Amino acid sequence: MTGIEMNNWLQQRAYLTPKRTALIFENQTWTYEQLNDAVRILARTLAAQGFQKGQHIGFLMDNHPNTVMLIHALHYLNVVMVPLNKRLTPKEIDFQLRDADVHLLIVDETHENISNQLKFGEIINIDDLHREEQKDLELEDSIHLDDLHSIIYTSGTTGHPKGVMLTYGNHWWSATGSALNLGLREDDRWLCAVPLFHVSGLSILIRSVIYGITMVLHRGFESEKFVRSVHEDKVTIASVVSVMLSKVLDADTYEPFPSSFRCMLLGGGPAPYPLLKRCETEGIPVFQTYGLSESASQIVTLAPEDSFRKLGSAGKPLFPSQVKVVPTEDRTNDDAGEIFVKGPNVTKGYYKKDQVNDEKIIDGWLSTGDIGYFDEEGFLYVLDRRKDMFVSGGENVYPAEIEACLSGHDAVAEVGVTGVADERWGKVPAAFIVLRDHTDITKKSLIDYCETHLARYKVPKVFQFIDELPRNASNKILRRELIKYLNEGESE
Ligand code: ATP
Repeated sequence: MTGIEMNNWLQQRAYLTPKRTALIFENQTWTYEQLNDAVRILARTLAAQGFQKGQHIGFLMDNHPNTVMLIHALHYLNVVMVPLNKRLTPKEIDFQLRDADVHLLIVDETHENISNQLKFGEIINIDDLHREEQKDLELEDSIHLDDLHSIIYTSGTTGHPKGVMLTYGNHWWSATGSALNLGLREDDRWLCAVPLFHVSGLSILIRSVIYGITMVLHRGFESEKFVRSVHEDKVTIASVVSVMLSKVLDADTYEPFPSSFRCMLLGGGPAPYPLLKRCETEGIPVFQTYGLSESASQIVTLAPEDSFRKLGSAGKPLFPSQVKVVPTEDRTNDDAGEIFVKGPNVTKGYYKKDQVNDEKIIDGWLSTGDIGYFDEEGFLYVLDRRKDMFVSGGENVYPAEIEACLSGHDAVAEVGVTGVADERWGKVPAAFIVLRDHTDITKKSLIDYCETHLARYKVPKVFQFIDELPRNASNKILRRELIKYLNEGESE
């Protein structure tokens, strides 16, 4: 075995700080010692099912202590985990299980039904495992940073989902880079209301054990519960996407957060200005981030002191990581280019996609498919995905910028923008809008609003009101499907 070797993370943590609280879930808590004991039993129980080192094991489970324990148990068995998004259809799950060469799928009670609809046959329900049936084997007390830890599928907004290979080292360096940026306090408690099957949730689990802090786990996101938990569970850090954050501020239970709450890590997409303003008024320190599964979560962050001075920026790269912007051929008249990332937290490639890897990763630099630019002070601005950008009358148009503008309008609940064909300009922006309940709005007032915030060529020429935006299993807007809604229902 080559590369750096370390003690198993949970084992080491339980040795260093056994009495610290590892996990809070609903009204239950576990210390690191208790968590480690339970995980070792689970690992031996799983071993009795015939798990073998190096195998790929899928799981389809809710956020729950059993999922936390399973993930740690898989470390002890040195098998590769393939977390599956529970919003996927059976067909999509079958695809990922096959594509990732999964040997066995582990489900919980909630997902037993969907597992009955799969073609894949090797399935175990974690609740059916009997802890008395344990295999007496040596657990893997060490880990190797070069070993494959997980295969996480991208959400596929721009094509077929691909399995991102992440090593223990990628996760280790992601945790290290984040700590060097956010700092670390002994009393930190990180709220995880994002899914453990996504890199955002998985990285909280891994960080908490490396840092020796508490993970406050929620089964899912509920704004009222989130607010209560921040107060009652003494949360100091939370990871959110902007729609979660605005629901938190709108929650009936909302009360200003205590001063011990030190970081709202906001990722997944650009943050709308009105939301940042509200957080400032409420004294919530927002750290905007840019990240992707391929970089094992955030790779660029913006500290609250720069939020308004650098409005719209994702910030600067984390200490161990490098980011560069390379001009693209389809670029017309701006300084933007494709964002490339490199560093010990960045994937070595997609599983079984040699050709894609050869195209997308050159000398360790991974092309992200996102378009952005650096300002003169070295702050990164992420404009949009390259595939979603379009040209209108010779000008580059980034749908995300128009969406961010329109989502600041009081009547707009959600909005997706795409380019539609136009005889004169080639393409023009079309906005697909879900209105807030009980609101009525005219195209004219939306145009007036856009014209005060956007250059003329970015103002949508088409406004279509729809009931719901097309989204994928990760809740991301599928812009390429918006066009199907054109001329459906009410349009102006
Ligand atoms: P696929 O590549 O298959 O479409 P995905 O990119 O949605 O999947 P993720 O890794 O979950 O899968 O998301 C990463 C993407 O989210 C980034 O590449 C970028 O497009 C977008 N993103 C993340 N943070 C930001 C941000 N701060 N600003 C703008 N876009 C962001």
